Amino acid sequence: MKNYLTILEKLISFKTVSADSCKINEFKRIINFIKSILIKEGFKIDIIGKQHPLFIASKFISTSSKTIGVYCHYDVQPVEPLDQWNCDPFKMVIKNNKIYGRGVADDKGHLSQNISAVLDLLKEKKLKNNIIFIFEGEEELGSLNFEKYVNEVKNHLNKVDLFLLNDVGMIKNNVPTIYYALRGIIYFELEIWTGSRDLHSGVYGNLVYNPIQILIELFYRIRNLKGNLKIPKFYNQCRKISIKEKKMLITEEKDLNTIKKASGVFALNPLDKNFPLISSKIHPSLEVNGFISGYTAEGPKTIIPNYAKIKFSIRLIEYQDPKNIISLVKDFIHNNLPSQIKYSLKVLSASKPFYCDYKNYYFKKVSKILEEEFGNKCVFTREGGSIPAAEILLTKFNKPIILTGFILPGSNIHAPNENFDLKNFLKGINVLKKIYSFYFSEND
Ligand SMILES: [Zn+2]
Repeated sequence: MKNYLTILEKLISFKTVSADSCKINEFKRIINFIKSILIKEGFKIDIIGKQHPLFIASKFISTSSKTIGVYCHYDVQPVEPLDQWNCDPFKMVIKNNKIYGRGVADDKGHLSQNISAVLDLLKEKKLKNNIIFIFEGEEELGSLNFEKYVNEVKNHLNKVDLFLLNDVGMIKNNVPTIYYALRGIIYFELEIWTGSRDLHSGVYGNLVYNPIQILIELFYRIRNLKGNLKIPKFYNQCRKISIKEKKMLITEEKDLNTIKKASGVFALNPLDKNFPLISSKIHPSLEVNGFISGYTAEGPKTIIPNYAKIKFSIRLIEYQDPKNIISLVKDFIHNNLPSQIKYSLKVLSASKPFYCDYKNYYFKKVSKILEEEFGNKCVFTREGGSIPAAEILLTKFNKPIILTGFILPGSNIHAPNENFDLKNFLKGINVLKKIYSFYFSEND
């Protein structure tokens, strides 16, 4: 156990905050550290990219073995607000059977579990599968270069029979969880100009367009408080999710009251009236993320502004194609803005939804291993969020992708006092050892 924690402690000590450009050196240091461990064990290393490189390390056992591609990321979220941490975020602390530190749950804990599992098996001469570690350095920036970097090692990754992605958690203590779907996301920024300057609202009211009013009306036409998006053809490509699947998804869900409490909102407003609990997982959604216009400082200022800017994002479910949705949104906005005003619509990012068939040999075997360790049936579920790497690896290689992990609810990812349950950390290493020493044979 001591060895496992030494590796993790060292990983946490590197301040690999990808959002902070002053931390580039930390990325070099962590790469050197991981490299130094794996090179001793005969891994072949490839480092792709400069600032936040993709780290690939491969260990081949035999040509008759299956090859498992293991994905984790080594960059972390910023630590602010620092005063809310009970410890130094970059110094690992163990307290009340929890390991604390920035990145311990997302995703350095999983990364170190994988290294530890493989090192153990090599020592015990029990490693049965070829392993390719795929450690990303800019997941928290939205995996901007992941596809490009993966392309550079495409021939190498073509050998992978199964991808294991460890960047999620379990829905409950001792309930192993595999995610078979995640939503995609498109992020938009819309600016509109109604003229060259602000105007007196007494002199020009009733005579000119107000950009705030324009955007309020535009977004009301896209989606009101109650219903679905009203952009024509928006839902055409969605996979129809059966009642059976919805029922399966709600069995492990919390109740509405718990969600209300956890979110701190005064009222919930679920879209799905029949399956409110999973409203954010099984439907696409649109949220306005920010809006700026007019005068909001102290006291009155009677103007009609000439400019407004709005940021909004759309989450997609399987089989919606971001390209198609972008063109539908562009057309809708073009057709619903007054014709003579000026506007600019930018797409800041776009990632496809992830959806995989989990009724597959590898899922069966891996879920059995998980069930043995945790003593409960494995839950197959979906998430409303997005992990670009999952979708990119699936689209590129079309191999089974098992998205699972060992952190628990309350692990405070992206927040102060991020933590990983110590028992689960050790159990996770056991599971990984069992997977990597398992003889996979699809003729079983
Ligand atoms: Zn993560």
